[in-house]
Amino acid sequence: MSDKIERIKTLIIGSGPAGYTAAIYAARADLKPVMYTGMEPGGQLTTTTEVDNFPGYADGVDGPKMMMDLQKQAERFGTEVRMGMVTEVEFIDKPGGIHKACVDNATWVEAETIIISTGATAKYLGLPSEQRLRGGGVSACAVCDGFFYKGQDVAIVGGGDTAAEEATYLANICKKVTMLVRGDQMRASKAMQHRVNSTKNIDVKFNTEVDEVIGEQVVEGLRMLNKETGEKEQIEITGLFIAIGHKPNTDIFKGTLTMDDTGYLITEGKSTKTNIPGVFASGDVQDKIYRQAVTAAGTGCMAALDAERYLAEIESEEGEEVKTTKKVEA
Ligand code: NDP
Repeated sequence: MSDKIERIKTLIIGSGPAGYTAAIYAARADLKPVMYTGMEPGGQLTTTTEVDNFPGYADGVDGPKMMMDLQKQAERFGTEVRMGMVTEVEFIDKPGGIHKACVDNATWVEAETIIISTGATAKYLGLPSEQRLRGGGVSACAVCDGFFYKGQDVAIVGGGDTAAEEATYLANICKKVTMLVRGDQMRASKAMQHRVNSTKNIDVKFNTEVDEVIGEQVVEGLRMLNKETGEKEQIEITGLFIAIGHKPNTDIFKGTLTMDDTGYLITEGKSTKTNIPGVFASGDVQDKIYRQAVTAAGTGCMAALDAERYLAEIESEEGEEVKTTKKVEA
């Protein structure tokens, strides 16, 4: 048995819309991409039911079906999709450096370029009733699922920019939006707070938490707890949106890649370049603002193009070096 470490031209970590789009472009550019899917093959969309806002699916599509379509498309051009979780990385901080990634704490692979598309995970409150009704009216994405509650009463939890933005988005579609803020003020920017406060059908409840989500198969109501008075109040709703933040999946890159104080990878200007040459980031792992499948796919395309250009530059620099050495030898 040989101990030789496998060398890959383009390694893609993560299998959401960003990863698969990077794979389609990288494979078509003959970068022979290998993808490690991570623990949740297909990413966040496999936990969604209907996706109605991805261009090209005129009648909507199931999240898992869309991810299978993307996988098929990536494989059609030769992407090798492998089950496995990248658990450790060793990046080389110089152009042309060969990076290393360890899969499932067991096998190391080498890669000339790496595209990170590990996504972000929505935070939930952790209540049993909330977990039971995920997909049955409890959602962490108003833009994805708000439309299904057209003309109905819904509630949203959170007081940050996401919650404020999603509350105003929902208010345009739904009859009434009850917004639960756990503290005595919102964390959202003043402009966003103003938008919430001036929207007539948003009812903001401060110092209020979810006590229980009511319903067996689908959400039917919400019992709220006012932390100041200890009073409980029950309202009828059909949808509950959780907007208390996301956690980018970047733990293995800490100390190596530049990230903001909440762990989102920072990319250079209008590119997907990280601070390490040859390592690129696409999708939600580097985007805390838009977080849509289509924007993730867009940055996946960018990452593959950036990787292709990077490899072309390295090859032409190596070619120049060989020419210069040959001249000196002659
Ligand atoms: P944030 O971390 O900013 O806000 C999270 C909110 O959820 C806070 O109000 C927090 O309350 C509340 N919260 C956290 N845990 C719980 C819990 N267990 N129960 C109840 N409430 C809870 O996350 P966002 O997703 O809103 O924003 C992330 C980043 O993205 C921010 O920097 C934001 O500015 C940015 N962003 C910008 C946008 C824009 O510019 N258009 C749009 C969306 C996001 P508390 O305040 O009490 O901690």
